[in-house]
Amino acid sequence: MNPLDTLKELFTSFPGIGKRQAERFVYHLLRQTKEFRTQLAQTITELDNTVATCDYCKRFFTIKESQHDTACSICSNATRDTALLMVVASDTDFHNIEQSGNYKGLYFILGGTVPVLDKQPAQKIRIAELKKRLQDKRLKELILALSTNPEGENTREYIMRELKTLQKEKNLTITTLGRGLSAGAELEYSDPETLKGALANRQ
Ligand SMILES: [Zn+2]
Repeated sequence: MNPLDTLKELFTSFPGIGKRQAERFVYHLLRQTKEFRTQLAQTITELDNTVATCDYCKRFFTIKESQHDTACSICSNATRDTALLMVVASDTDFHNIEQSGNYKGLYFILGGTVPVLDKQPAQKIRIAELKKRLQDKRLKELILALSTNPEGENTREYIMRELKTLQKEKNLTITTLGRGLSAGAELEYSDPETLKGALANRQ
């Protein structure tokens, strides 16, 4: 395959990108300067040496910012409330909540959601890793912050089922953030005020 076709195929693997859009990306790149392409290629290569997955919350973080190889700047920050763990679907949801500035606890990124009637939910989200994370004795409350659409609701129910025993064992409180959001709300698009209300009214 020639580089044009290879690149087209690579872009097609991006979320929400179809063949035509991938083609537009390739031609867009060709119209840019050589310096632009070199910078893009180098930045992508650098990701491997500068970005890592946090051992605790599983989010992507830049090693430089955190000064740790295995823990992100939030999980290694001594001023955060270690009794609170907020469970979110994606890095984007995490970013949105953190930006709103109202939450001072820790996070856990599920890495996806469980589609309704899915046969292998354990493979869709980091449920095994979440259970491991809950062994932390400092944790008191788990906040499930998922979108209030059917898939978010299904994910929440699956997690509740999976954590039933562990919750009793560890005497954990599990609350839901979604109640403060309107039905069908996508967490990713919620504004800071809505998130603040949702956090204060969690149940
Ligand atoms: Zn972390």
